[in-house]
Amino acid sequence: MGRVHVIGAGLAGLAAAVRLAGHGVAVVLHEAAGHAGGRCRSFHDHQLDRRIDNGNHLMLSGNSAVQTYQETIGAVDTMSGPERAEFPFIDLADGTRWTVRPDRGAIPWSVFRSHRRVPGTHASDYLKAWKLVRAGKTDTLGDCLATEGALWRRFWHPIAVSILNTDPAKASAQLLWAVIAETFGKGEAACRPLIAKQGLSESLIDPAVRYVQNHDGEVRLNDRVRGLSMETGKVVGLTASEEIRLKSDDKVVMALPPTGARGLLPDIDGPDAFQAIVNGHFMVEQALDDHTFMGVVGGTAEWIFVRGDVVSVTVSAADRLAEKPEAEIAQILWADIRRVFDIKSEQPGPYRIIKEKRATFAQTPAQVARRPECETVLKNLFLAGDWTDTDLPATIEGALRSGFHAADKALETIKNVERP
Ligand SMILES: Cc1cc2nc3c(=O)[nH]c(=O)nc-3n(C[C@H](O)[C@H](O)[C@H](O)COP(=O)(O)OP(=O)(O)OC[C@H]3O[C@@H](n4cnc5c(N)ncnc54)[C@H](O)[C@@H]3O)c2cc1C
Repeated sequence: MGRVHVIGAGLAGLAAAVRLAGHGVAVVLHEAAGHAGGRCRSFHDHQLDRRIDNGNHLMLSGNSAVQTYQETIGAVDTMSGPERAEFPFIDLADGTRWTVRPDRGAIPWSVFRSHRRVPGTHASDYLKAWKLVRAGKTDTLGDCLATEGALWRRFWHPIAVSILNTDPAKASAQLLWAVIAETFGKGEAACRPLIAKQGLSESLIDPAVRYVQNHDGEVRLNDRVRGLSMETGKVVGLTASEEIRLKSDDKVVMALPPTGARGLLPDIDGPDAFQAIVNGHFMVEQALDDHTFMGVVGGTAEWIFVRGDVVSVTVSAADRLAEKPEAEIAQILWADIRRVFDIKSEQPGPYRIIKEKRATFAQTPAQVARRPECETVLKNLFLAGDWTDTDLPATIEGALRSGFHAADKALETIKNVERP
C-alpha cells in the first residue's frame, strides 16, 4: 500500500491526515511552520502572559464535520457553549440589548411574536429572506436582501460578515444560505454556539496531531515543501527538507492556502482576493462572566468573547482597520469593550492585536467561481483547503470537509484499504 504525503497541517491537512491514518494508510504530514494549525491555533503571548488564540473562532452544533473530526480525535468534551442556542447582542448606537433565540423547528414561527424579534423589525422583514433560498451563483446578499433597516443592521450584517468575512452586501448569497440551511434552517439544536474551552489548539489541533502519530503517521514540522516533480501526469517527487522520490502508488494531498498551492502548481485556478480579520485580546481586572460571547453592532467590534480575565474582540472584513497602527486599533476596540461591560478605565491594560491580513479569500460570487475541485490533472494529487470548492464558506467546517473529501478521493485509489 502506498504512502500519502499531506502538505500543510492546517485544519484541512489535519482532517485528511486523520482520516487516512484512521484507515491504516501510512501518512507523512509536512508543515512549513514550527507548529500545526495554520490560521487556527493557540500560543503563549508574552505581553499578556496568557495562552491565547490567533483569533476568536465560533463553531455551531450543526457543523457535522467538526462533530465527526472531534469524535475521531477524542476532543468533543473540549468545547463549551450554552445548552440552548442563544446569541446575545448589543447595539452601541443606543444601548439596546437583545438575544436571538432560534426556534426549535425549521420554520421560524417566532418572527410573528414581537418580543422574539430583533428590536425595530417587523415580521414582513424576515419573510423577504426567502429570496436567499433561491439565490443563484452570481447573486450577492445585496441582490437578495434589503441592505437597510434594523434587520440588516442588527441581524443579517453581523451574521454575514462573520461567516463570510466580506462586505455583506457584496458577498455570495449562496454561500450564506449553505450555512443557514445546515444550522438555523434545522432549528435550535443545530445552532448552539461552540467555543473551545481552553484554546483552539487544545480542541482542534493537538489531539489531531496525536491521533496521526498514534496511528503510525509522521508529522514533520519546519518542513516546507518547496517543489513538486511531475512526470506523465503524476507527481513523482517532493522537495522538502529532503528530496523525496514517490513510489508508484504514493499519493499527495495538497492542503495549502491558494498562494502556496499556486507556488507549487502554477496552473491551479483559485481565489486571488483576500480579506483581513483583526482580533484584539485585552486583559481586564474586573471579573466578567467566563465564556460569555456577544455580538456587537454600532461600533467597530463585531463579536466579543470572554475567557478568564481576557476579553477578545473580532472584526471581520477588516482591511481598512488592519492598516492602522496597533495602538490606535487597541484604543478603538477598548472603547467598545468599555461600553459593553461598563468598565471605567479609559486606557486598556496589557493587550495584543493580531492582524490576519489574508484571513480568508474574499467571498464574492466572482471569487467563489474561481474555487477549484479537489481532483486535479495530476492523477495522484488532490487539493484541500477552505478555499477549494466545498460549497461552504471558508470556515473550520469547510476546511475539515475539504480535508475529509481529499482523503476519501485518495482512499478510492489506494488498493487493499478499507473503503470510507
Ligand atoms: C482570525 C480568524 C478568525 C476566524 N474565525 C473563524 C470562525 O469563527 N469560525 C470558523 O469556522 N472559521 C473561522 N476562521 C477560518 C478558519 O480558521 C479557516 O477556514 C481554517 O483554519 C483554514 O484551514 P486550512 O487548513 O484550509 O488552511 P490553513 O490554516 O491556512 O493551513 C495551511 C497550512 O499550510 C502550511 N503551509 C503553507 N505553505 C506550506 C508549504 N509550502 N509546505 C508545507 N506547509 C505549508 C501553513 O503553515 C498552514 O499551516 C477564521 C480565520 C481567522 C484567520
